Amino acid sequence: MALRLENKNALITGGASGIGRATSIRFAEEGANVFVADRHLAAAEETAASVRQLGRKAIAHQVDTSDEAQVNAMVDRMVKELGGVDIVVAAAGISHAHYGEEGKADIMLLSEKSFANWKKVLSVNLDGVFLTDRACAKAMIKAGKGGRIINIASAAARLPTPGVGEYAVSKAGVWMLTKVLATELAPYNITANAIGPGFIKTPMTAEIQNLPDVTPLMQRVPMNRMGEPVDVANTALFLASEEGRYYTGSILHPDGGITMQ
Ligand code: NAD
Repeated sequence: MALRLENKNALITGGASGIGRATSIRFAEEGANVFVADRHLAAAEETAASVRQLGRKAIAHQVDTSDEAQVNAMVDRMVKELGGVDIVVAAAGISHAHYGEEGKADIMLLSEKSFANWKKVLSVNLDGVFLTDRACAKAMIKAGKGGRIINIASAAARLPTPGVGEYAVSKAGVWMLTKVLATELAPYNITANAIGPGFIKTPMTAEIQNLPDVTPLMQRVPMNRMGEPVDVANTALFLASEEGRYYTGSILHPDGGITMQ
């Protein structure tokens, strides 16, 4: 059977961990070459090694996706070394301003939230996706072969979430960004879709997974359990593949039903 992404070049930001890593590997299983971009180079190299073991090309690249010059340089390198960008999955993200650093999570009401922490989350989760999508869209338009843009938003884009309001706002922004891009890029045969995962077992949700009993939280999830990174990777695969060609401007929710109401 033909592979679903044979010889496609995919850029995955946040590819060092969690959803981005699972997507890199799932795409490689279906024939894609993967440009693994992340702020953590050593971990991105590990993902790239897994992609190579599957017989595909992989490049690990260090980037801060909230930095305009770094994002443009990332896409330039990908075009130069892999020959183009067919698919982008923008998965790099943070759950609060100090995510990935030692110390306390910035979980507090918006009325108490510092402006610096608000801006930090917006700069990575929204500006970073805009910059990544913009650079990829330019490269795709120039190449004239169409393309697929897939942005990892969150179920939080729909659900007002006390304590992490800036995260929910950033993800709602990603959803609208995706819809505007879908409209603007349709004439170029470039689709843009978002994915809004629910609770997925990655380092981002480590604290929830480690609770002795996750049942009260999971009661918000009709399927009563967390999802796996590959559940999101398979959603991205569908949107990137031929089967997903008529989707644009959508948000798909691998979330165990949390957003159904
Ligand atoms: P994760 O921490 O495992 O992966 C996030 C990756 O993004 C990390 O490798 C990190 O180094 C990278 N990253 C963060 N900021 C970056 C920056 N400025 N530049 C480059 N790389 C950066 O977490 P995950 O759960 O795999 O998250 C992936 C995406 O999925 C995020 O956008 C997150 O908001 C979203 N999401 C996750 C869940 C969940 O339950 N895990 C639910 C909904 C949405």
